[in-house]
Amino acid sequence: MLTIENLEVAYFNAIQVLKGLTLSVDDSEVVALLGANGAGKTTLLKAVSGLLPLENGAIGEGRIRFQDQLINKTPPHELARAGLLHVREGRRIFTEMSVEENLISATYALTGRDAQPDFEAVYNYFPQLKDRARQTAGLLSGGELQMLAIGRALIGQPRLILLDEPSLGLAPKIVDEIFDIIARINQEQNVSILLVEQNANAAFRIAHRGYILEGGKVVLEGSVADLRRNPDIQTFYLGLG
Ligand code: ATP
Repeated sequence: MLTIENLEVAYFNAIQVLKGLTLSVDDSEVVALLGANGAGKTTLLKAVSGLLPLENGAIGEGRIRFQDQLINKTPPHELARAGLLHVREGRRIFTEMSVEENLISATYALTGRDAQPDFEAVYNYFPQLKDRARQTAGLLSGGELQMLAIGRALIGQPRLILLDEPSLGLAPKIVDEIFDIIARINQEQNVSILLVEQNANAAFRIAHRGYILEGGKVVLEGSVADLRRNPDIQTFYLGLG
């Protein structure tokens, strides 16, 4: 589904953030990407979804392939239309618009103005959003905003979703609820998911494999079962040390 080989990324202020990163996400797989603040996780997602040129960054060496196509230079709207959706950190919802209008705008962006939004594709997973369809999105709770952000991606019939810190700022119970739904979306829709998280416990609950990023490189990778047994992961990521 997604393969990244030896990726190097720098911002125009000359900070090199990714220094030869290699990773892959298979069909129908949930892959967790963990790493300390500043390791380059968000930068990697922006490189994949084509956002770097909009944010003063650029890909140097390396290759990114999505469904066997080289996408190093593909713009974000084309990738989104091909089924590669990025749910950005901070949720990025239009707070002045209603829930439904946010879903309509996502539909227009993804499929053009004649398209009929498939609200049920979203409400099937997030029934709470249906109850709030006409409400201004700015009044939603943090958990509901995250649901709406994922809902906007779902409306694009995704093949791969890049999820940046969906647990950020949410109470543990809401995190569990949202992660259960992410797992259902993965299983029922055969959507692959690349999940960037600080909350390793939550990520490992739904991921199949994981990568640890340090200083712009992968320093450890493996199945979630193997990563859970690693003493460093237990100490630094799972709070067990
Ligand atoms: P966090 O969990 O804190 O978001 P991260 O692993 O996602 O961390 P990135 O956001 O990718 O890390 O940031 C990696 C490095 O790149 C940091 O040193 C950051 O300051 C720098 N950086 C990020 N965005 C830009 C930008 N637009 N211009 C210049 N430098 C940037």
